[in-house]
Amino acid sequence: MHEVSLAESIVNALLDMKEEQGWKSVVEVRLRIGALRQVFPEILSFAFEAITPGTALEGARLVVEDVPLSFRCEECGTVWDEDAALCPACGSMHRETVAGMELDIESVEVEE
Ligand SMILES: [Zn+2]
Repeated sequence: MHEVSLAESIVNALLDMKEEQGWKSVVEVRLRIGALRQVFPEILSFAFEAITPGTALEGARLVVEDVPLSFRCEECGTVWDEDAALCPACGSMHRETVAGMELDIESVEVEE
């Protein structure tokens, strides 16, 4: 259940941002979370909604955008997005992960 600690760190980051920027309230928070993070968006939203009441983020909506895993072949440059071990174009096993590790606050909609 690392969703709970993730929700807590997002809330803390947002409270800091709110303080710094002087926002009146936060309406919506949009996250980008890569497949490799193994986060369940429903549990994350549930945790977020459970810990925000009583804070300055009460009532804020959490929207999670999933980022699928993708790889790039180091030999031929082909990019593919399934969890295949070998490059589908040249069969090379040398690949780098180009997406799927994201854990970002993409945007925050606020009332100023
Ligand atoms: Zn290749």
